[in-house]
Amino acid sequence: MHTLLTPDALDACDLCPRCCRAARAKGARGVCGADSTLKIARAALHMWEEPPISGEVGSGTIFFSGCPLKCIYCQNHQISTGGFGIEVSPERLVDIMLELQDQGALNINLVTATHYAHLLPAAITAARQRGLKIPIVYNTSGYERVQAVAELAGLVDVWLTDFKYADVALARSLSHVPDYPDVAAAALAQMVSQINAAGGELLAQDGHMLRGIIVRHLVLPGHAEDSCRVLDRIWEVAGDVPISVMNQYTPNQRMRDQGGDLARAVLDEEYEMVLDHADDLGFTTMFWQEGGAVDESFTPPFDTTGVLESAAISNGHIG
Ligand code: SF4
Repeated sequence: MHTLLTPDALDACDLCPRCCRAARAKGARGVCGADSTLKIARAALHMWEEPPISGEVGSGTIFFSGCPLKCIYCQNHQISTGGFGIEVSPERLVDIMLELQDQGALNINLVTATHYAHLLPAAITAARQRGLKIPIVYNTSGYERVQAVAELAGLVDVWLTDFKYADVALARSLSHVPDYPDVAAAALAQMVSQINAAGGELLAQDGHMLRGIIVRHLVLPGHAEDSCRVLDRIWEVAGDVPISVMNQYTPNQRMRDQGGDLARAVLDEEYEMVLDHADDLGFTTMFWQEGGAVDESFTPPFDTTGVLESAAISNGHIG
């Protein structure tokens, strides 16, 4: 089997499970929207991840442009399908990681980097050589090839991975992807075995995660049953892994126009049903959200902060 995560992957791209084979090296765009260039929308401290990721000082999030999934309710559509972002070199990505560390970030949080994973082995290795000490968090939709996850072993410290759907038809209708549940389960199994092989979860004294997994699930209005089946699947694949069950779903304009369940927020009883099911299954580490999110603060402004120069400088307070 050839090594996947090299720049050669862009000749006929098969970086993500879509394997759409776009000739990205020649400038073609894949289903994810990416071509041969690296595009980033924001690189700054972010306070709204789970406590072991954001802590008190923030996670050093790098939001990449584009996405292999096509979720119709996406709350980051400006960057996921809108293509917003600035083209930067792989060398600049390394600088960004070091700048976020200088700003006090607890970790480097790579948000939806799936379609740029060919750059990560070299970039993370270069950043480590230049003094990057903090953990690398790989923040993903869960729609990953097992081989890509395997090739990130030893480079990624924390897998912050979604498990979105248990039902294939639901995944197809809401994210336009043919095979989400089995793909996400296989990727999760690989993440779990990798973390176990490395010695299991490791937390710092203050509770921030140095090594481990958190599996996230966003409860969708009208689909609490599927959320319970997602939890069943996570339990079956990963056992008592830390989970984060979110109710921050906010209908975008398209969903409001369309009407139906996805035009509203998640009901308290739907959310409670899913949380109760997680309890019944036996999950012992569970993060949840209070007060029905619908809160702008969970979605940072995609304003290219930190992409071309350090966020500390662009915010006007150096150091
Ligand atoms: S990463 Fe993008 S270009 Fe590559 S296979 Fe997936 S959708 Fe296609």
